[in-house]
Amino acid sequence: MVSSSPYSSLIDNEKFLYKLVIQLLIFSQGSHKLLEPHLLSIGTKLRNGANLQDLSHELQAVSKTLLHISKQTKQDVDEAESDTTALQDDYVMGRLDELLAEVEVPLRFHQQTSMLKQKLRANHSEKAYKKVIDSAITLLLNIKDYGVSEKKGIDVFLEDLTEQLDEIGQQAEMAGQANQLSIDNRDTLNTEIHRQVGNLKSSTQSAQELSILKTHTSEHLDRLLAQLLEHKQMEDDRQQEVQRKIDLMTQKLQDLETETESLRTRLKIEHDKALCDPLTGLPNRLAYNSRAEMELSRWKRYRAPLSLVIWDIDYFKRINDDYGHKAGDKTLALIGQLLLNNCRETDFAARYGGEEFVMLMPNTQEHQALEMAENIRKMIQNCGFNSNGEDINLTLSCGISEFKEDDQLDDVFVRADQALYQSKQHGRNQCTIYVE
Ligand code: GH3
Ligand code: MG
Ligand code: MG
Repeated sequence: MVSSSPYSSLIDNEKFLYKLVIQLLIFSQGSHKLLEPHLLSIGTKLRNGANLQDLSHELQAVSKTLLHISKQTKQDVDEAESDTTALQDDYVMGRLDELLAEVEVPLRFHQQTSMLKQKLRANHSEKAYKKVIDSAITLLLNIKDYGVSEKKGIDVFLEDLTEQLDEIGQQAEMAGQANQLSIDNRDTLNTEIHRQVGNLKSSTQSAQELSILKTHTSEHLDRLLAQLLEHKQMEDDRQQEVQRKIDLMTQKLQDLETETESLRTRLKIEHDKALCDPLTGLPNRLAYNSRAEMELSRWKRYRAPLSLVIWDIDYFKRINDDYGHKAGDKTLALIGQLLLNNCRETDFAARYGGEEFVMLMPNTQEHQALEMAENIRKMIQNCGFNSNGEDINLTLSCGISEFKEDDQLDDVFVRADQALYQSKQHGRNQCTIYVE
């Protein structure tokens, strides 16, 4: 029979609790280093026959430690979440940075863009982060609007030009008509003179008296003279009118020439700027694309060897991190100039993006390109970079590939890039030719 007195149920409960505590303690062993000393001490007491009462002090300590561990775990989770947010922020900033690098930025937006790029690369509070994203979006929209308005400006100018050319055409036609009129008038005058001379002849022949002859002759001569004068006056007026029109046309043509010339200059400046990287002064990626297309078609036609070199500065991120972004920019400009000044005039060096440069070498086999690249690499390694007197160890790696068979631009680029990757893998500061 089962005991049902309150006393026996109290003993049962205590036994149950005692068992539960022991099971929980066994279960918790090894789960957290803060619990370990308490578990050890409880274990020893249990082996010495301690009951629940004897353990109450240690159990309170375990309870406190558990509370502490649970708080700490929550805090860790919060921090991990904020790390994830920071990672997402970095990702968004990085993508915006790439987007800005892809966009062709008109000159007037260069300063704004480079300030924004700096902000994108800096660390941000949540508020500043939103602001930077807003500014990037506004800037991109402004660049788009500016492009549209520039195109509109050129369209309006061309419309204007067409109108003015039409007007000049009309004036020229009118001047031609005036000229025709003057030829017609001269013919009329000729006919009239012939008629008057004919009349004069017949009246001379029919005249009986000298006095009558004199009068007739004088009348005819007066009429002739009057007609000549009238004709001269008309011709003078017409001449003046024609001259006025010619002057007007000349002026208009001059204005047009000036306007066209200034538009041509503006377009050329914009075009040159669109192809130039403002930081290094080197041709940019757009310019590289167009030059590469040209070299490719020349290569397809003449099959003279053509090599491509891709350069990448080693550990450039460290330069920015250790010496600041401005020093990073200066270094990029300097490296760009060194690459430009140390390749041949017929070679083409460009800043491909970030800290990557490319070189197209016509009439150059890959082993010759390697020789040249090695010289440049050593020269840069030994050129003694420094920031405020502190030496900076700066090196470059490159990958080289020669055009062959049915190569398209991408094929050679991918191969050179793979060779560059090998240079990096094998310790950087080296030049590698792509080998299959
Ligand atoms: P690796 O040797 O593997 O090439 O290492 P790395 O540090 O050079 O390469 P990574 O791609 O990690 O970093 C490139 C850095 O170049 C990161 C970026 O902030 C910096 N960078 C890109 N463009 C510019 C720029 O216009 N100015 C400055 N100052 N830094 C730039
Ligand atoms: Mg790189
Ligand atoms: Mg690099």
